[in-house]
Amino acid sequence: TEILLEDLPGVGPATAEKLREAGFNTIEAVAVASPAELGATAEIGEATAAKIINAARQAADIGGFETGDMVFERRQHIGKIKTSCTEFDEMMGGGIESQSITEIYGEFGSGKTQVAHQLAVNVQLDQEQGGLGGSVIIIDTENTFRPDRIQQMVEGKANELGIELDYEEFLKNIHVARAFNSNHQILLVDSAMDLANELKDSDKPVRLLIVDSLTAHFRAEYIGRGTLADRQQKLNKHLHGLQRFANLNNAAVLVTNQVMSKPDAFFGDPTKPIGGHILGHTATFRLYIRKSKGDKRIVKLIDSPNLPEGEAVLAVTRDGIVD
Ligand code: ADP
Ligand code: MG
Repeated sequence: TEILLEDLPGVGPATAEKLREAGFNTIEAVAVASPAELGATAEIGEATAAKIINAARQAADIGGFETGDMVFERRQHIGKIKTSCTEFDEMMGGGIESQSITEIYGEFGSGKTQVAHQLAVNVQLDQEQGGLGGSVIIIDTENTFRPDRIQQMVEGKANELGIELDYEEFLKNIHVARAFNSNHQILLVDSAMDLANELKDSDKPVRLLIVDSLTAHFRAEYIGRGTLADRQQKLNKHLHGLQRFANLNNAAVLVTNQVMSKPDAFFGDPTKPIGGHILGHTATFRLYIRKSKGDKRIVKLIDSPNLPEGEAVLAVTRDGIVD
């Protein structure tokens, strides 16, 4: 017989209802949530949330994947991808973390896609060089992935490190899929999971998943529809899929989010990211990037579970992101 949310210890009817409203319809969905995420959603403490998650993991048949002690084990292996900017890395406590979703939001042309390209290069480097020795999957919703940009960045990195790097090898470890609409985008996370499983025991396991842009399709499709609830619900589900990907693959997830300079300044902060509080709850790290003088960009850490807010200055050059 099917196990219901209410069968989990600590989950009464009210909590179950809140969980369902937030898209946690099944034991499996709860099993792959983070305690912080579940705690915020169901308005319960993180310790209680952790207990519920552990129970769900044991109850759920998710391929015998994880139990509580395995979660603990897994978190010992969190890795960091360096950004190529010292200040940026320091602000992030070493780099972009695996098993987390990092959101970078900013205006058009602020450098979000540049950061994404740089991380697609850096993740492939060895650990001593600031990478995770892994490959990368890019869900490209705006058709802005550029192989020649990767080539420039690989050449820049080779110069910086004083080693030889073959950009064609780097391109081979970047798996790009175009997403044609929001439904397709969500489905591509499943395909990404399949690909990551295939590469799991290879010499380049997937250690980074990029969704650039996370929100463009959602925004375009839901424009003028009055109800944002549907969009939020779908985005929320999408983000849970991404968090699951991050956890199961010890991968970093980077999502970009465009804000308009003055979308509806009447209704508050013009630099408010699309997705509002739903993204706020789900992305572990939130970064705001904006243009500064010349090729300089300022990246601000807005939200993090364990790091202070901060700012870093980087430059976007032919060689990629630099100090
Ligand atoms: P978005 O935030 O919209 O994704 P991008 O990451 O595409 O913005 O940033 C585009 C900007 O990056 C360009 O306006 C330019 O300043 C910089 N840029 C792109 N390619 C290069 C390059 N080859 N050399 C130097 N700067 C570049
Ligand atoms: Mg872009």
